[in-house]
Amino acid sequence: MLEFLRRIVQEVSAAPNLNAALQVLVHRVCEALNVTVCSVYLTTQSADNEDELVLLATQGLKAEAIGKVHMHFNEGLVGFVAQREEPINLDNAPNHPRYKFFSEAGEEKLKSFLGVPIINYGKLLGVLVVQQREQRRFNDDHVAFLITLAAQLAGAITQAGATEDIYKLIRGEKPSKQYMEGLPGSPGVVIGQVVVAYSPADLDAVPDRTVNDIPAEIQRFEKAVNAVSDEMSVVNRSLESVVPAEERALFDAFAMMLEGGSLIDDTIIRIKTGNWAPAALRDTIFEHARIFEDMQDAYLRDRAEDIRDLGRRVVSKLLYKSDEIPADQYPEKTVLVGEAVSAAQLAGVPPEKLVGVVSVHGSGSSHTAILARAMQIPAVMGVSDLPVGRIDGQEIVIDGYGGRVYVHPDKTLRKELVRLVEEEKQVTADLNELIELPAVTKDDFRMALFANTGLQSDINPSLLKQADGIGLYRTEVPFQMREQFPGEDEQEQIYREALEAFAPRPVVLRTLDIGGDKMLNYFPVKEENPFLGWRGIRISLDHPDIFITQIRAMLKANRGLDNLQILLPMVSGMSELRQAMSLVQRAHSELLEEGCKVMLPPIGLMIEVPAAVYMIGPFAKHVDFLSIGSNDLTQYLLAVDRNNERVGKLYDALHPSVLSAILHVIQGAHIHNKPVSICGELAGNPLGALVLMGMGMQSLSMSAGSILRVKKVIRNFTREQAIDVMSRALTMEDGSMVREMVIEELDKAGLGGLIRAGK
Ligand code: PEP
Ligand code: MG
Repeated sequence: MLEFLRRIVQEVSAAPNLNAALQVLVHRVCEALNVTVCSVYLTTQSADNEDELVLLATQGLKAEAIGKVHMHFNEGLVGFVAQREEPINLDNAPNHPRYKFFSEAGEEKLKSFLGVPIINYGKLLGVLVVQQREQRRFNDDHVAFLITLAAQLAGAITQAGATEDIYKLIRGEKPSKQYMEGLPGSPGVVIGQVVVAYSPADLDAVPDRTVNDIPAEIQRFEKAVNAVSDEMSVVNRSLESVVPAEERALFDAFAMMLEGGSLIDDTIIRIKTGNWAPAALRDTIFEHARIFEDMQDAYLRDRAEDIRDLGRRVVSKLLYKSDEIPADQYPEKTVLVGEAVSAAQLAGVPPEKLVGVVSVHGSGSSHTAILARAMQIPAVMGVSDLPVGRIDGQEIVIDGYGGRVYVHPDKTLRKELVRLVEEEKQVTADLNELIELPAVTKDDFRMALFANTGLQSDINPSLLKQADGIGLYRTEVPFQMREQFPGEDEQEQIYREALEAFAPRPVVLRTLDIGGDKMLNYFPVKEENPFLGWRGIRISLDHPDIFITQIRAMLKANRGLDNLQILLPMVSGMSELRQAMSLVQRAHSELLEEGCKVMLPPIGLMIEVPAAVYMIGPFAKHVDFLSIGSNDLTQYLLAVDRNNERVGKLYDALHPSVLSAILHVIQGAHIHNKPVSICGELAGNPLGALVLMGMGMQSLSMSAGSILRVKKVIRNFTREQAIDVMSRALTMEDGSMVREMVIEELDKAGLGGLIRAGK
């Protein structure tokens, strides 16, 4: 049964479109279970906006009924499965009170019925049904088979459905839905043109692109094939003495494939249709890999991965350097789209041309979203339905508030979106009027507003006017932009720029916080569970070489300025703090011994793991200041990976547990008279800022793009009001209630435009 299941799933995934996929499915299920009928119903919205089910594929019922048989969830047995979201297994269906006969389906009198829901990440997509003329009770194995199949198919159906919609949109037909849903990443609405960011290691992400000079493209492809072939024979020869011939058979197989035959010929045929070589090869590789995947023999099946590997090698030759887009060829309004857009990819686009970001993976608290907020451009994250490879060059509209992406919206919708884009410009213009004004409440409380940064380009004249200093400099960002660890002198120069720009205002440099979703290409760390693994201070303490170099660079950069503060990330216990402090002291004494007059700056600690919340007393005694990292604190308190779009909706920094942890930290820090700030994204969220002010927070540090929005909130409330909002928030039982209540307060103050598209 398992083998059968695997093959069905593979065939369905390989089908060219949703209808073909479902047709394959119903046909194969009838065979596997030996039943009269197998049908798939998918959920849609009826004209009156009610959920309904429509017959989309069948084997055994009338083909003309496809698309015609509709039912609400309260109708018939299929509706019953959808309503209950659980399997219904009946040996005599017509006897069931919910039985309804659909004559247009040509159902005749089918006795037995087994229906299972098709659910993808909590969302009901449809119902899979098998029916049998004779009375028969399906056994447990059959039920389990259908449930497993439905679960596996849910992803394929989602993907195929989305792709289908995109094709329709591109061909100018009306899609079933005009947008794709993701998670809000960075506020704003913008129209731009898609540029796909991809890495050669990811064949799926290679986009289609039209070529004009076809002979030149074929030549380029052949050159890349020859280069890979040469490389492989060199490696093969060098392994001769150490690896037995049978282990090296793969190289011979690769060499044969690269010498000629269908892999090469099929790719050339595809190039001749006008697609560029990387995408032509991508399609050929997938086709060949699929043939292997379909094989019965497990050994041969595994060869599919070898073929993909070969494809990746050739694609990376094709893409290396020559395909990096020259700065002047980016569209004027570039929206960077990718499977997982990285900081380096963002930095690769000329800043004046980058207007938005869309990423298939990640959520609003991923570092890509944080960077987008710093760059003040809208971002939508976790758009898992986006067919990245097919939309290069297309017009796209993104709504960073609602987390929606529109590709080729129809005329009416486009007009509405253009209106929203214009209104957004007005909101931004209104906010810009606050640049020179202080962040003072109506009752004269002055909140200090600091910036989070990491990109040197963030530190511009406008930010210098807006921020009271830098509350979080993520030093890993300049590390990510390089191809090796920057040396002491290079780091000193980077840090000096930030310290000098803001002096005498404080600049908090955080020591390297890599690991989790922040990787360095030149320092690969592969872990099953990276957010609970080797990250932040843990790496620094295991690599005193890297840590001490960094501290020395910071201390030297601070000479003559004395506005440096050092912040330690991801500390969970006292021994880490002690070790880190002693390494800082060692760097300090070393420099003094070398005759370099440097000061020992204030040392602070981030509260971002739950253990640190409950260590606030001892920690506060030993450090000079504290800074709450609400991004990680939320992730670890709620056990929700901040980077995983599947659980993105559970990630909520306004969750009552997060709010009470923050309050606990503020109170603990105050007992020891130590300043406490917050540098997680909650501080830059207009809703969060109001609650935090109510908690007694006196300074907030946020992405550059959030400063004016937060300033607007502060200037429109009194501290008394903020305290009242906070006290009510703390009595609420879930984050959505807190959100609703604070949104209502902002709306009452006329500030709704800060948190949603339009004015
Ligand atoms: C945080 O975790 O809240 C934080 C500010 O650090 P980062 O987002 O860089 O992990
Ligand atoms: Mg953090």
